[in-house]
Amino acid sequence: CGIVGYAGRRPSAAAAEQVKSHEHGALDVVMEGLRRLEYRGYDSAGVAVLTDNGIDSRKKSGKLANLTAELAAAPLPEATTGIGHTRWATHGGPTDENAHPHLADDGRLALIHNGIIENFAELKAELLDAGAVFLSETDTEVAAALLALIYRGEGGGDLALSMQLACRRLEGAFTLLAIHADSPDVVVAARRNSPLVVGLGDGENFLGSDVSGFIDFTRRAVELGQDQIVTITPESVEITDFYGNPATGTEFEVNWDA
Ligand code: GLU
Repeated sequence: CGIVGYAGRRPSAAAAEQVKSHEHGALDVVMEGLRRLEYRGYDSAGVAVLTDNGIDSRKKSGKLANLTAELAAAPLPEATTGIGHTRWATHGGPTDENAHPHLADDGRLALIHNGIIENFAELKAELLDAGAVFLSETDTEVAAALLALIYRGEGGGDLALSMQLACRRLEGAFTLLAIHADSPDVVVAARRNSPLVVGLGDGENFLGSDVSGFIDFTRRAVELGQDQIVTITPESVEITDFYGNPATGTEFEVNWDA
């Protein structure tokens, strides 16, 4: 339902005082974005960050306050890259297990998703045959397992290429965001029949299902077109189609008062 992504830098506390826009860690940015997206309605929420030891995530059914309480009880380490999701359940009830992110590749990959994967049942059968294990009832976890299988196979450990290959096999409506433990500063996102906007920062970049996801941090935005993939790092934004051809989104300035 609501999606946020962040790739930035978190300087030392002393430097943070001078560089105001960089003083927040990935988790703060993502949680702030999720709060802004609450107006869309949701039944669960979750976050994942990239740490020195891989991916760490928390997710909870119910209001964001439940996730905040979970984060207070079991804090996440500081991070500069993160993703967050508020879920409006379509496949599987609003439980902790069905909340996003969904992990795959032995916990080294995290995926969040807005929309519906129409062909998830066929894909799930195929992935079960290939040995995938599922912990939820969601269509999203099928996309996560597919992305992981491709990443370990024809995707050759390249997250953006793997996302291209995975998207060519997915039918329906999706905005997807993925992070992988092997790609420290990177968030890869894709969209089909579901919106995705990039927020351009200085030494940091953002993703949102709409501009509310990053409105507190930047007003410069790029709306992605149909069937596009974007890879953000703190310093770069690269857009392609599902076949790796370079593509461009539509740049605009957010000029409403948040
Ligand atoms: N179909 C997915 C699910 O049920 C995503 C729903 C959403 O857009 O939040 O988990």
